[in-house]
Amino acid sequence: MSKFLKKCYSSLEAYVPGEQPRDGEYVKLNTNESPFPPSPSVINAVNSGEVMNLRLYSDPTAKDLKNSIASLYGVGSENVYVANGSDDILNFSFMAFSGDKGEAVFPEISYGFYKVFSELYGIKSEQIPLKEDFSIDYKDYLNKNKFIVIANPNAPTGLTLSLSEIEEILKTNKDNVVLIDEAYVDFGGESAVTLVPKYDNLLVCMTFSKSRCLAGARLGFAIGNSEIIKDLELIKYSTNPYNINRLTLVAGKAAIDDNVYYVDRCKSIMENREYTINELKKLGFFVTDSKANFVFAQCDWIDGETLYKKLKERKILIRHFSTEKIKNFNRITIGTLNQMETFIENVKNIKEEMI
Ligand code: PMP
Repeated sequence: MSKFLKKCYSSLEAYVPGEQPRDGEYVKLNTNESPFPPSPSVINAVNSGEVMNLRLYSDPTAKDLKNSIASLYGVGSENVYVANGSDDILNFSFMAFSGDKGEAVFPEISYGFYKVFSELYGIKSEQIPLKEDFSIDYKDYLNKNKFIVIANPNAPTGLTLSLSEIEEILKTNKDNVVLIDEAYVDFGGESAVTLVPKYDNLLVCMTFSKSRCLAGARLGFAIGNSEIIKDLELIKYSTNPYNINRLTLVAGKAAIDDNVYYVDRCKSIMENREYTINELKKLGFFVTDSKANFVFAQCDWIDGETLYKKLKERKILIRHFSTEKIKNFNRITIGTLNQMETFIENVKNIKEEMI
């Protein structure tokens, strides 16, 4: 670090993204991307005409994209905020909604960026342990009077809270924003968007990176009360009004307008998830009841890190976290059936070698 960096950032522990090998030789099951390409209409939308238009700035209001999202989710466009990936929405939310005392609450085991944003903004974070079965106890989040962030389904466990549990959290924290991060909701979860008209403290955050096969386009959106959305716009216009590039705007709109394609792909992922869970159980793994496009698994015959390394030698990438409480687990993204069969076959071979 240089002598010029502000002291407050000197101990910042940045988020470490999963490996992104450039050579394409891996079966890549480590960062929860979709194994499927975007829909044909997305590919048509990102055409040479749009490339020619890159000389012009993008629409800072993202009007067309917002209208499409609003009509798919049955809300007004004033209830929609769009951003350069949902990480950007989380960033702004930690910046804007942690209250005058700068406080936030989230599960101890969850998306790693929540801790990073807390540190970045000097927020005092209360990190609540999960239950023994790795689920979130919604009762831990009642009457907190602090900014609350919950991933639902949670990452990396894939476990969900019910809408009635989320509603209890919303009812007892009326003076604070409750952000429900639904990055993985399209793989069998239940969206809290239906609660938006009832609770002005709810912000639901979603992404095009998983179910909509557009991780590389960087596009996320949030749905909430129009006043909260205005707050996010205020931060956006105070930092980077053109936060979404032209190609991503048209790709995102085409993806939303072609919803059937994506619902279909999510169905395949859910089927492949069932296959993977069953096969892992046959091989002696404990696997959580994931409703996301990944599974979270551990077993007694190999530790998490060794399994990760042995699979990497065989050109299969999964995600291992060194956090003490989950260090024996791995998170495995669900890919095509073919990829999952390759994964299972290799785990079988490793088991035979070990025993
Ligand atoms: N929330 C959760 C729970 C995630 O796992 C991720 C992906 N790493 C994100 C948000 C951010 O996704 P993106 O910025 O690609 O929209």
